[in-house]
Amino acid sequence: MPIRKAMQQGLKRAVITGGLEAARLVERAGLMTAARGMGAIFTLHHVRPRTSQAFDPNAHLEITPEFLDAAIGQLAEAGYRFVPLAEMPAHIAIARAGERFAAFTLDDGYRNNAIHAQPVFTRRKVPFTVFATKDFSQGTRSIWWETLAALLRTAPVLDFDFGDGPVRLPLATNLQKQAAFARLAAFVLSGEDEARAVARLDAAACRHGVDPLALTGQLVMTETELKSLARNPLAAIGGHGVSHRSLARLDDTQARREMAESAEWIGHITGQPPESFAYPYGDRAAVSSRELRLARDLGYRVAVTTRPGTLVPRSFDAPAALPRISLNGLYQKRRYVAALASGIPFRLISATDA
Ligand SMILES: [Zn+2]
Repeated sequence: MPIRKAMQQGLKRAVITGGLEAARLVERAGLMTAARGMGAIFTLHHVRPRTSQAFDPNAHLEITPEFLDAAIGQLAEAGYRFVPLAEMPAHIAIARAGERFAAFTLDDGYRNNAIHAQPVFTRRKVPFTVFATKDFSQGTRSIWWETLAALLRTAPVLDFDFGDGPVRLPLATNLQKQAAFARLAAFVLSGEDEARAVARLDAAACRHGVDPLALTGQLVMTETELKSLARNPLAAIGGHGVSHRSLARLDDTQARREMAESAEWIGHITGQPPESFAYPYGDRAAVSSRELRLARDLGYRVAVTTRPGTLVPRSFDAPAALPRISLNGLYQKRRYVAALASGIPFRLISATDA
């Protein structure tokens, strides 16, 4: 989840949109086929009807069921075949020239995945993998970015102790709320101890009448709901950690426990060990070579990052470090999907990011 870049979002958005439009021009020029990989793994989070919020720092993590349906239609028209994530390596290994594959993944185990995304996937006969986090589904740990959005919507001003005594954060305008979101997100993601930072944020939320665990309970599927979802032959449940902490920042024992216990827990719910794992956050700061090794040692067939990119046969030389493409709520235009699947915008972004 790319909250880390919240502050650069405006700029980034302009760059990505530019990249997408440029990719469409490339497509028209007939260069798309040469540039395209053989497969794409899409990342989704919330799938639900749009609600307009004045302050919505997590809007990029949300698409509508209609956009999901349109995206699947667009990919089908472009010749993609939809396969379960764990079977992607086998399909690509024996693919004939010109064949292309797509897999859908949804992170964090939101209830709306079952309510709003599942009917679309079922109607379209598209396999999908939901990456569930044990502590979220058991209701013992809060989803901090949801807590933070709710808190900043509610509080007129926030006194928060980042470690050197309380700091007053004004929250009168959306810009101030956005700045506070970025500062608190950075505190959680780059501070000394992620769990302690989240606990401090939870306490601040409670003082302002926001109940973090109740909010998580409203949003995330319970074990019973996950079990019911897993009965859909198109659905798979994959691991997404126990606590959703950035694994690369944990010590060896903790990192291993997060990934091993995640597999045990899902095995307990579905009756079989999960075949796939999504590293929480999934960016370079959250995933080190140790986690890639752990994924292999613990028997996950594939593991996915949030590093953007498309798949080629050599991607599966490292099946524990697969790139994905975010179906991002800020770019819900049908014409962008084929451009995203091509991987071209990411090349354009890296060129402009440097
Ligand atoms: Zn996540």
